[in-house]
Amino acid sequence: MEELQHRELNKDEQQDLLNLYYYICDNDYIMKKMLVNKKWALLFPYIIIFLTILMITTCKNIMLSIFAIILGLLSIQLNFIFSHMYVHALMLVYSLWNETMINIVGNIPPVVVTAFYHHHNEGDWAKGILSYTTPDGAFYVMVSHWVSFSLFTSYFPINGILLKLFILINLVLYPAETSGFFLGYEFGAMLLPISHAWVHNKIKVSNEKILYYSLKFLEYIGIFATKEDHKEHHNYSGEYVYTSFTSSGLYSVILDNYVTNIWNYSFKKCKEYNYQLYKVLMPLGIMIMYFTLGLSIFMLIQIGTIL
Ligand SMILES: [Zn+2]
Ligand SMILES: [Zn+2]
Repeated sequence: MEELQHRELNKDEQQDLLNLYYYICDNDYIMKKMLVNKKWALLFPYIIIFLTILMITTCKNIMLSIFAIILGLLSIQLNFIFSHMYVHALMLVYSLWNETMINIVGNIPPVVVTAFYHHHNEGDWAKGILSYTTPDGAFYVMVSHWVSFSLFTSYFPINGILLKLFILINLVLYPAETSGFFLGYEFGAMLLPISHAWVHNKIKVSNEKILYYSLKFLEYIGIFATKEDHKEHHNYSGEYVYTSFTSSGLYSVILDNYVTNIWNYSFKKCKEYNYQLYKVLMPLGIMIMYFTLGLSIFMLIQIGTIL
């Protein structure tokens, strides 16, 4: 059993992590393309444009479309929160973080490595690759979030084809009911790295006034956390090591308390029974993801048939 504490990596572990990152990118079609040609990142705004056009042209009830967008945003928020918790449970097992990791825990998307680095970056040893302190690094951090969380490119937890079929069937058979949902989901996924850059004070008023004040508005309404909210997430001295999981993505004060309780309880129990925390949080995360996706789509189609 590991020590269940946070610590920085030694030189060999740093190299192992880089090797793992390149291995994952090499096996991820879109990520591999983006490493060679940054223009591939346009895929994600194109998906948003496509879904917006589909939603507008097929809309049969504006309230249904708005409701679908909200459900999509909620779904990606929940998916992010539980994925984030799962990654932090993996972080507690330092021996996992090398090329053999996938054989032990199954598929992991590139953002998992980015997240691990974000919490183990003393000395900023992977500048330009995993760190957003350089323009190139910031780009890869951003697209690793997008490729990992977009339903159109994600292959976690199941290998891609089933998820793509699910989207395709819904968009072909029920475009009026489901295009808003996927739009909300994909838009929320695009916001994830931006919200994290925001809480680390990387987006300043001097960058772009319109962008700054739009994001300030998201902070004001509580979708983005503040720098202060996120500080706790980088404080590793607590009894349960990690806390404040929603402050890195789409923020929610109310949800954060529940999520922290789930983490603390699972942490305590796993320590008591000498069981790996990630093995408990993984099925929970998968269940939450498919449950929110399935329930949202089911509800929207049902409402659509009544209208
Ligand atoms: Zn984190
Ligand atoms: Zn952070």
